[in-house]
Amino acid sequence: MRSLTFDEVFAILSAVRWSAAELARLRAWLAGAVHPDECIALIEQAARGRPCPHCRCPRSQRCGQASGLQRFRCLGCRRSYNALTGTPLARLRKKERWLDYLQCVLESRTVREAASIAGVHRTTSFRWRHRFVPGAVRDRPSLLTAIVEADETYRLESQKGSRSLTRPPRLRGGVATRRGINREHDCLLVARDRGGRTLDFHTGRGPVTATQLFACLQPVLAADVLLVSDAAAVYRRFAARAGISHEVVNATAGGRARGAIHIQNVNGWHSRFKTWLVRFRGVASHYLSNYSGWQRLLDARQLTTPAKCLCAAARPG
Ligand SMILES: [Zn+2]
Repeated sequence: MRSLTFDEVFAILSAVRWSAAELARLRAWLAGAVHPDECIALIEQAARGRPCPHCRCPRSQRCGQASGLQRFRCLGCRRSYNALTGTPLARLRKKERWLDYLQCVLESRTVREAASIAGVHRTTSFRWRHRFVPGAVRDRPSLLTAIVEADETYRLESQKGSRSLTRPPRLRGGVATRRGINREHDCLLVARDRGGRTLDFHTGRGPVTATQLFACLQPVLAADVLLVSDAAAVYRRFAARAGISHEVVNATAGGRARGAIHIQNVNGWHSRFKTWLVRFRGVASHYLSNYSGWQRLLDARQLTTPAKCLCAAARPG
């Protein structure tokens, strides 16, 4: 059968009497429709004026095209590159599907759903997730200011997807062998200021230490912040060492909040994160910071379109 031309399809569409729901569905579909060249144009535009990724030389000459992208030859080191060299997206194929795929990232789709929507294999969908997401999550606030809440959340370590476990398998899944927080748990530290700027850190296994707090938080806290945390002694030690003001919320002693002194914003973030993670049915420890970063991006509502996500992920570094 001959396929219909655009004019024939358009004539059919024009003759339909749309219901409000159908019209909304068509509008949503059109809003997400992208031309294959759009992705290439966005990538080239984001890289315009960038120096050579090999030697930082600003001078180059054009030398043909490859995989739809302009190739350049550096006049300093003579090596060639394109707009994606040195970025997390280098050498990924099927660029015409990327914007559809990134829409799936914005909608928190599972690997399987994203594969079906973007028309790629499940293994491609998984590989893309762990290239696009870590690329985009580098978009982090550089400084937290004024009142900063900090708290950790712990997740049982997971070797999901790993071919060789480094411990005996958990027979009933999801349960630690010992009580309390220990080396079986991954620690996710979250700091959030009252402007909603949030930073997440996977500090490794076991309870967070004052040294880890110093390494993660000290570089991102303004000198005059007021840190608010729970009563764990590590925060007190960290604040003393970093020379910053510190207030404690002692939840167990019934002192949940004293005016502005609370950690409800950071605890709210933790709870949204845990709810959001359920759809993925467990995530490997190895990828935990990809997922917390992904949630941070969605929660901050900064990268709201596939194009913005693409530009964030297509930066070098
Ligand atoms: Zn160069």
